[in-house]
This record gives sequence, C-alpha cells and structure tokens, in this order.
Amino acid sequence: MKLYNTLTRQKEEFRPIEGNTVKIYSCGPTVYQYAHIGNMRSYIFMDILRRVLKYNGYQLKHVMNITDVGHLVSDADEGEDKMMKTARETRKSPWEIAEYYTGVFMDHIAELNIEKPEIIPKATEHIDEMLEFVEALVEKGYGYETSDGIYFDIMKFEGYGKLSGLDLEGQKAGARVDVNKEKRHPADFALWKKAPKEHIMQWPSRWGMGYPGWHIECSAMGRKYLGDEFDIHTGGVDHIPVHHENEIAQSEALLGKPAVRWWLHGEFLLVDNGKMSKSLGNTYTVTDLREKGYDPLAFRYMCLNANYRSKLNFTWDGLKAAQVALDRLIEAVVAHKNADPEVKVPDEIVQGFEKEFLEAINDDLNIPKAMAVAWNVARYGTKSQDLYRLLLKMDQVFALDFSKAAEKIKEETPELDPEILELIEQRQQARKEKNWKVADEIRDRLNEMGILLEDTPQGVRWSYKK
Ligand code: AMP
Ligand code: ZN
Repeated sequence: MKLYNTLTRQKEEFRPIEGNTVKIYSCGPTVYQYAHIGNMRSYIFMDILRRVLKYNGYQLKHVMNITDVGHLVSDADEGEDKMMKTARETRKSPWEIAEYYTGVFMDHIAELNIEKPEIIPKATEHIDEMLEFVEALVEKGYGYETSDGIYFDIMKFEGYGKLSGLDLEGQKAGARVDVNKEKRHPADFALWKKAPKEHIMQWPSRWGMGYPGWHIECSAMGRKYLGDEFDIHTGGVDHIPVHHENEIAQSEALLGKPAVRWWLHGEFLLVDNGKMSKSLGNTYTVTDLREKGYDPLAFRYMCLNANYRSKLNFTWDGLKAAQVALDRLIEAVVAHKNADPEVKVPDEIVQGFEKEFLEAINDDLNIPKAMAVAWNVARYGTKSQDLYRLLLKMDQVFALDFSKAAEKIKEETPELDPEILELIEQRQQARKEKNWKVADEIRDRLNEMGILLEDTPQGVRWSYKK
C-alpha cells in the first residue's frame, strides 16, 4: 500500500515500523466551539486511513488528542487562549466549555461514521508529561526563557522548515516587527507560557504558574502513548507550516532522531469556493446538515468522492446531488441484497472487482476510484447476493451503512398480515413458473383486499390503496 508523505513529497510504500500494528497520531479538535464541516472533512480523511489500514489486516493504535488548553487565537503565539476567550464571552468555566464541545464533537463524528481512535487524551490531563518535555529541551539548550514564557530556539535545530520547505532566512528578513522583542527569531515558538493572574487554566512549574504551548501538547501525548518513534501523523494542511514543523523540531531535538515516519495531510474544504468564516455565516456544522433534512452520511459520501489531497468545494446543491446519488447507490445495493439466492456471478468477475477496489484504496487512499468500482458493482446487470456481499465488504472502508440502509428500506414497509404475505409469496411462485393466469388472479384478490402490487427490477413492492 502506498501513502503520500508530505515530508518526502512522494508516494511511498507503507510498512509499519514494528510488526503488524500501525501507530498513528492525529491532531484532534480544539474544543471551544462547534466543529464545522471543514474540520469534519479532516476527520473523515483520518477515518478512511484507519479503515483502509484495517482492510489490509493491520491492527491500530491510534491517538487523537483533545486540545482543551493552550491553542491561541493565532496558531503561532499571539492572542488569547481559544478556551479562555469562549469562557470570557459565555461566562462559563473553560472546563465546562471543553466538556460540552467535546460531547457534541463525539456525537457528530459518530453521525458521520467516523470511528473513535483507541486513545483520546485531553491536554489538561497531561501537563506533567509536557513539563517534563519542556524541561528536557531547556536542559539540552533548545529552550530559553523570556518574561512571558519558555521559547524554542529554532536556529539551534538544523532541520527546521523541512516539512513545509520554509526559507528561514527569508522569513526573518521579511518578518513584520514581532510583538515579542525578546524572541531570538520571529518563528521561535512558545513551549510554555507564563500565566497572567486572570488566566483560569494554570499549573505550577519551575518557571512559576503557567500553561503549555499548543505544539508541545501533541509531541508529549504522542510520545507518551506511542513511544519515541511511530508510523503516521495526520492533520489538515494548515498544520504543515507551523504546528507540525514545530512538533518535528521539539521531538527531534529531544530524541536526536525523527519521531514520525509518515506525515499525512488532508486538504481543505471550501464553502462556496472560499474560506468558512463566522462573518459570512457559512461555518456549517453536522447539526445544520441534519436540520436541512440531509443525512450526515450524504456529506461523508461527498467527501469520499474527492481525493483527500485535493480541495473540495461545499455547496448546498452539491450536497443535494450527493444525497440523491447516495440514495440511488443504496437502492442498487438493496437490489443485490434481494436477489434470488440461486443467481451466481462468476468468481472471476467478483474477484476482478475486488482487486480493482483494493488497488484503488491502496494507491494513496484513492477513494473516488474505489467508489467508481462500487458503482460498477452496484449497477452490474445480474443482481446477485455474491455482489451484495462484495459491496458490504467495500463498505468496511466507505462506512456508508449499506447494510443498515438496506434494513431501513425493509422497516419502512410496515408489517403485513401473514395471509397477505402468503398470497404475495404464492404469486411470486406463480410468476416464476410463468403461470401468468394464477399470478393475475392473486393480484386481483390482493387488490380487493386493498393491496396494490408493483413489479420493479428490485422485486415486488406493495402499498395500501389510497
Ligand atoms: P482545530 O479544532 O481548529 O484544531 O482543527 C481541527 C482539524 O480541522 C485540524 O486538523 C485542521 O487542520 C482541520 N481543519 C480546519 N479547517 C478545515 C477546513 N476548512 N477543511 C478541512 N480541514 C480543516
Ligand atoms: Zn497537533
């Protein structure tokens, strides 16, 4: 299986560092407001990665953090802590805010069939590990103290900028006058911040009361749960130039070697071809989708039809089209489900589809191509339960609820009187035997009983006469 590594800028053959278990770290949400559908696109990408690895027989040890302190309004070191800002605005405690938005986040990812990673640590519960990390960096000469915190000295770390290809000298020359004159380089970043009195979240350290920088959270929690070296780190493309560059600097400075083998990044979701913003009123959430009558899985379907490394533009018309397509796909799946069990499709055909599917998902998660294969299976002329089983197997990766949706279609048909069911059955039998006369007689009898029958390619449908 091949994955595109942002660090090497190429697709590389994937093998776990150790045995059959893949160790993954994903940057999780900052829980100070509702996660929007752009954030959700990133977690759908993370979920697809999980599912493709599992499809290939790997076990997973996957960590996704909850950032409940330290993420400032700018991704660098300026502005207020996002948690504190919401706390001030809503007059709630940052802990209450974190708990509430974490709960909603978990509900929303469940609605999108995003599997929960095995380990979901909260930043506020790992302050000791972060402090230990910062202290070790300072002891090794990578950190220095200023009046407002402890900063990482990027010029001491040779590889700074390698993930994003930053030109540090150029950056230094072109940098606007930095608000923090004590920093040695404008791109030096905070490992630990000294807390002003009004900062509610603060912990004791050898530098007095303070709170961790956002970047150190991920490095410290990744190391705690996955060890000094792990396989994959994921996040959105916005993390490449600052957050992940800083994570690399911290971890490699401490360990003297890279901590992460593969860096994977999901591209952004645009809305109406632009950035989502509160002022434009287009930061939609899963709740908005549901309230407008869409199945959140239609949004998942929409995301699956774009490559994770390409931008995707969200519009309501696009979502409507995705919902229609998903409904059609499920109908086609149900047709295979309801096929005569005697009807077989040659093994070579089934295996051919399966091979094409596997090649697509293993080619750097080419899900749009895998989806095209699924459509070819769904539309296949012969309806067969062999193909239904194949579609269910593919749905281990798509997670579009093929089996549940098929059940739902069944449930929508209320229970019928056993006598009527028996008659429908008898008529089916008569039709199979091409005994049209008997079939028509039964149809008429059912008609008298108030039942209308319709023969569709998916089988017989019945309804009550209006
Ligand atoms: P945050 O909660 O701000 O830390 O972001 C959570 C995740 O969402 C991160 O991995 C971001 O890279 C990602 N993200 C933010 N905005 C978008 C967007 N418009 N499209 C895709 N991913 C995004
Ligand atoms: Zn992170």
